[in-house]
Amino acid sequence: MGEFALELNDDQKTVRDWIHGFAADVMRPAAAEWDEREEFPWPVVREAARIGLYSLDFYAQQFLDPTGLGVPLTLEELFWGDAGLGLAIAGTGLAAISVFTNGTDEQIGTWVPEMYGDADNVRIGAFCSSEPDAGSDVAAMRTRAVYDAAKDEWVLDGVKTWATNGGIADVHVVVAVVDPALGARGHASFVVPPGTPGLEQGQKFKKHGIRASHTAEVVLRDVRVPGHCLLGGKEKLDERLARARERAVGGGERGGNAAMATFEASRPAVGAQAVGIARAAYEVALDYARTRVQFGRPIIDNQGVAFQLADMRTRIDAARLLVWRASWMASAGRPFTAAEGSMSKLFAGETAKKVTAQAMQILGGNGYTREYPVERMHRDAAIYTIFEGTSEIQRLVIARTLSGMPIR
Ligand SMILES: Cc1cc2nc3c(=O)[nH]c(=O)nc-3n(C[C@H](O)[C@H](O)[C@H](O)COP(=O)(O)OP(=O)(O)OC[C@H]3O[C@@H](n4cnc5c(N)ncnc54)[C@H](O)[C@@H]3O)c2cc1C
Repeated sequence: MGEFALELNDDQKTVRDWIHGFAADVMRPAAAEWDEREEFPWPVVREAARIGLYSLDFYAQQFLDPTGLGVPLTLEELFWGDAGLGLAIAGTGLAAISVFTNGTDEQIGTWVPEMYGDADNVRIGAFCSSEPDAGSDVAAMRTRAVYDAAKDEWVLDGVKTWATNGGIADVHVVVAVVDPALGARGHASFVVPPGTPGLEQGQKFKKHGIRASHTAEVVLRDVRVPGHCLLGGKEKLDERLARARERAVGGGERGGNAAMATFEASRPAVGAQAVGIARAAYEVALDYARTRVQFGRPIIDNQGVAFQLADMRTRIDAARLLVWRASWMASAGRPFTAAEGSMSKLFAGETAKKVTAQAMQILGGNGYTREYPVERMHRDAAIYTIFEGTSEIQRLVIARTLSGMPIR
């Protein structure tokens, strides 16, 4: 277990600087074009794969960094480069985390490499939990998974929505209801292997921001997957369902399910992405405030502008510290007793939204145009108070964890 330290070691600095180079030289120059095209940026992801940045090996190395800081450092730099392109590169991570969190060693060894492929054959993954009527309210999920014992197959039916990489992914991880009577405790996650008949992309969404990231519906009609595609295996599922049924009879607590386990593990990582966007906007605003002259002096000479920059930087540093704390706790196996993962995502997401708005204000008319990147950063940041649990849901999780009360 690594000690918590704010001083990065030489390996971490080297990796951070290497990603920063890619973000500055490859992502930044391409960002506006892919934002306009609103398509999955295959050439950028392939370039990331060519240099080893989009690869299972690289993410596994960062994931296993004993200080816990490998993943947040990587994501902050990528998203400093650009959030849409960053999510195209990092989006597979959510599907990979769900296999890591819920799968057996054998499933991890089989499916995670399938999601990344290699430099000559780049692959991507998608995690599909949300549905049209089940966003924050995961328990309202309707996609069904029914076991066909005669064939040892699971049959999936339903419609998933807003799935990052949905329909274009090689491997989809789908959360489905196996026992409707148990609410969120009656869910399980399934891998849908490449080319499985019955899985199709539905509507592709046109979005406000992160437009280089592909977001779409995933329609599942009579999708048959082998028994071994149930993450964690049937025996473990049966035991878990039996425990949940006992609790239901005894009127025990609710909560804890396949999708939530994935979100818990990924929240600090999403917070790190938001920190990257906020830092990028802050840097543009600081430069601009130093050089833009009005009333015969740089606008930063006004306290009204300078104090905003002071607040922006303070919030960004505070957000990063919350992200690093939660990342270290997760990697050290410490439980989030005060919902520290949710705190980091909440604060970093709100910071990205606020700081990018302040940056736009500091750039005045230029900030509102696509001549400067803060307009895009502001649109990109808005998703960080919505996906992977809205800010309201993070507050609910924190309040319930702190109080032990079923706050609604
Ligand atoms: C670009 C994008 C990418 C996404 N990627 C994925 C993905 O890869 N996989 C996936 O499964 N999902 C994904 N999502 C879905 C995302 O996680 C959901 O949009 C999010 O969880 C919110 O659900 P909802 O949109 O249904 O909002 P709702 O749940 O309908 O919420 C609407 C509003 O009501 C508030 N609200 C709801 N319940 C409460 C409450 N109890 N107390 C207080 N306020 C409440 C919410 O905070 C929000 O402000 C993505 C979404 C987008 C837009």
